[in-house]
Parts: sequence; structure tokens; C-alpha cells
Amino acid sequence: MRYGFGVDIGGTTVKIAWFDENGQKLHSWEIPTVRENEGKQILPDIAAALQGFLAERDVNRADVIGIGVGVPGPVDSRGVVNCCVNLGWGNVDVCKELSALTGLPVKAGNDANVAAMGEYWQGSGREFNSMIMATLGTGVGGGIVIEGNLLHGTHGCGGEIGHMVLNRDETEVCGCGNRGCVEQYCSATGLVRLATRRLAEDAAPSVLRQLEKMEAKDVFDAGKQGDAVANEILERYYNCLGEFFANLCVVVDPEVIVLGGGVCKAGQVLLDGIRRGFERFCFQGVKGVKFAVAQLGNDAGSYGAFKLVLDAAG
Ligand SMILES: [Zn+2]
Repeated sequence: MRYGFGVDIGGTTVKIAWFDENGQKLHSWEIPTVRENEGKQILPDIAAALQGFLAERDVNRADVIGIGVGVPGPVDSRGVVNCCVNLGWGNVDVCKELSALTGLPVKAGNDANVAAMGEYWQGSGREFNSMIMATLGTGVGGGIVIEGNLLHGTHGCGGEIGHMVLNRDETEVCGCGNRGCVEQYCSATGLVRLATRRLAEDAAPSVLRQLEKMEAKDVFDAGKQGDAVANEILERYYNCLGEFFANLCVVVDPEVIVLGGGVCKAGQVLLDGIRRGFERFCFQGVKGVKFAVAQLGNDAGSYGAFKLVLDAAG
């Protein structure tokens, strides 16, 4: 049996997991992400943690396939990061540097992309050939896997579906600097924004007006209780998601769209709403696409990162 590491670098912690080649997670732990000094300590810290683990367990290095890494920013097809604000990085050749520090093969990808790969391999996408994953959280992240291949893109921006433009008349600015991105409507933050805008339209009574600070969950809860305004907001939200996925499906035509992120806690009501919105806009030929909720949660990134290096090892 051969083994390897899946490493998911986040802005505050680095998640490290040790897998066997069948995808069984055998051990996992976290170390802090030291962002000071332009994040120069991050890769040496990871290398030290991995070396310590191998020494402690007395692992034969010939049995170690390598290290897969997820990075919270664009990673090009050679594993080079040109700029990652979340880690303080400028130009960093993750594969070359971490490989030099550990003597092991390294593969790297964008964190949302490797999370998609994780779900494709061991989560909700495992019975399907092609998949789009969309993570509906504070923002909208994504990843596209076609017949086992993860789409990194020329500039590492493949799967940045949260920044497709949904409304060119939008006046507010997205985190990326553009206006009218999917993320401004389809994220948890986007749902709250749609709700705030709807409440400002008239004085229709709604329990949402009594809240000091509204969250996405409040809108779903109010909808379940039969609040008419909340349900109107949710229908607008489902229309945004439906239009978004209808557009994606004529590009990729996947078998399944896997949904991750906090919004998915709404469960079946969300899936049903998305299906309604989707069928309003979709090209007839892609109508059969399935929608599913992600299964691996925060572990998806480390699974997918390990899969990158496993695939490269052949
Ligand atoms: Zn944007």
C-alpha cells in the first residue's frame, strides 16, 4: 500500500491529512498559517510538520506518493501562484519549493478546485463522470471536473464561476472589483442583499423586519413559517441560481451539480427551489442534470489535494 498527504492551506489554519491510495483518510491535524513576513514561513512549516509525521511513524519514504496542496488563490497549470492576498504571497512556485523542502513530488491547485475534486472522488460526485461544484457561502466558489480531469485553466482561474456576470446593470461593486457578479446574488451574503432590497421596496409585513441583523438562515426559516415576503425573496434567489446554473450547463453539460457552503443547510427546500429556477431558464437538452448537496464538508479540500498527486503518480 502507498500513502500520501492532502494539504489544504487556509488563511488561518493549514489542514493536513494522511491518506492511503484507496482514499481512506488515516490521520489528520491542523497547524496555524503564519501569514507574517509575506507568508514566507508557510511552506517550511508544512514541510516540518510532514517530515515530523513521517519520522514519528517511521514511514518508508518509498511508500509515499507525494503531497497535494490546495491554495486559496489562483494556481496556474504548473503549480505556480502569482498572487495570493489571503496568504500574503506574491510569486510562489508551490510545487518546486515544497518539493525541495521535502524531497517528495508535489501537485497544487486552487482550493475551491481541489475541493471539487474531493467531492468528485469521494463525495457526492463519485457516481458521476462530469461535475460542477458550487460553494454558496460568504462568496461563491466553484470547480469543474470533466471525465476525471480538473479544469485549472490557463491562468488558474478555471472554475471561478462566482464571478460570471449575472446583471450588467448592477451598481454595487463585487469583491473582485466588477459589478453584477453571481457572487453578489447567489451567495449567503447575496441572499441577505436580495432580502434587504425587497424589504425596502414597500411596507409589506414580514417577520424579517423585526431582525436586528439578518442572515441567510433567517430567510429560509421565515419562508418555512409561511412569511409571504420571505418566500418572494427566496423565489428571486432561486431564479438567480437557476439562471446561473442554466448558463453553466450549456458550457459544461455536467451530469451533476454539487452544492456546498452554509446555504446548503436549507436542504431539500433549496434543491427544490433551484430545480424550479433552473427549469425556467435552462436549454432543453440539459434538463436532466442532477443537483446534490456536498458530503465531505471541510475535508473536501484535503481529499481533492491528495487526489491531484495520486493521479499524477499514475
Ligand atoms: Zn466578482
